[in-house]
Amino acid sequence: LFRNDLRSGNDPAQDAPDARSRRARHRWLGGLTVAPLLLFAACGGDAGNAPAEVADAQAFTNASIFDGTGGPVVEGGVLVVEGGKIVAAGAADEVEVPSGAEVVDLGGRWVVPGLINAHAHVDDASGQGPSAQEQLEVYAHYGVTTAISLGESTTEALSLRSTRESPDLQHARVYAAGPIFTPMTADSARAAVQQLATMGVDWVKIRVDSFLGSQQKMPPEAYEAVIETARENGLPVAVHLVELEDAKGVVQAGASLVAHSVRDQPVDDELISMLTSRNICVVPTFTRELSTYTYAERPEFFDDPFFLERAAPADLEGFFTPALAQSQTSEGANYWREHLPVAEDNMRRLQEGGVSIAFGTDSGTGFPGRFQGYLEHVELEMMTEAGFTPEEALLSATGVTARCVGLEGVVGTLQPGAWADFIVLDANPVEDIRNTREIQSVWIAGNQVR
Ligand SMILES: [Zn+2]
Repeated sequence: LFRNDLRSGNDPAQDAPDARSRRARHRWLGGLTVAPLLLFAACGGDAGNAPAEVADAQAFTNASIFDGTGGPVVEGGVLVVEGGKIVAAGAADEVEVPSGAEVVDLGGRWVVPGLINAHAHVDDASGQGPSAQEQLEVYAHYGVTTAISLGESTTEALSLRSTRESPDLQHARVYAAGPIFTPMTADSARAAVQQLATMGVDWVKIRVDSFLGSQQKMPPEAYEAVIETARENGLPVAVHLVELEDAKGVVQAGASLVAHSVRDQPVDDELISMLTSRNICVVPTFTRELSTYTYAERPEFFDDPFFLERAAPADLEGFFTPALAQSQTSEGANYWREHLPVAEDNMRRLQEGGVSIAFGTDSGTGFPGRFQGYLEHVELEMMTEAGFTPEEALLSATGVTARCVGLEGVVGTLQPGAWADFIVLDANPVEDIRNTREIQSVWIAGNQVR
């Protein structure tokens, strides 16, 4: 196989005209950019005959690059990708395009890192809905290129994690927490985390919540045991919570991520200093609140062509059931609607206090209306309504979240070494955050997925 590939690679007449097959053949060679030259040598090939080119390099030129680091947008920038990863990014006169690279002229469009959802769900508790892979394809279609799935009822999402290391990846990368346990004692907490560790999960997810007084809340000795056992197993812990008191408790105990807004009352300086001193981020998930009451009536976005592309349920009218109408006007729904402004104020307070705000939506749960892919764009817009600039919202959803979930340099920034996961936009998202919906194309590991 290698010999055949080498011959065709050495013969321009046999060179496939399109980059896709060139890349595909290169991957046969092992996915290493140095592989062709090494093999030429190993097979006695004439190095002088070998093209001084990188077989699968791509160069995205003429781009306005928002790189997710907080630096200024680079106009007329170039992004060079090899083996699915970025090898160079910057101004045209500073980046060398390898000869033989497939050149994609982006015509002055905007390029932003793919969005990272730090509180997603890739799940199908019913067994009736789309598969985990299809859900990750929907996320990708909308430019959500990494999903931290904080709790699944099935194991499909766990099994798809291996694909995130592949340069052929065609859907969102998934990091997964596995099933959510709610142990009420320290002993059962340790057993639950050991079970998760055996499954090889990426995260542990717990809920510290009385569900508006309807259930017993996980006591501190149980979540402290979860966090301690998780740390022993090298696992980060994400916590669902509602109340300030619980946020302080879990952060004090060593939690890694606060996966929702504090919603019962304003955050205070004590929590802010606990979060900043430990470098712990908070995920607002405003669209989670929105989804508890907004479907009492048909929302305007049900007619938005962008929503209808892939996020909408197949039976759009069948979505509005009497049970949904009832839940969306319940006491609980009223609580969440009334406390959304508390969550929004808290995002600002935390940010002003120096706490990093991670991006997440709680989309993809079994609850109706948690539309994957679309709600992430609504979340960005709600973050700006809550006081962020478009740039701050975009940074949150890219470089900041990467840092918050331990993926700095892997995804979330368009810098050498990171996967080439990015969105090409027809309009400037820094001018208007709604322009993140003007998607021309989405790329994951350098593969065009939209
Ligand atoms: Zn959740």
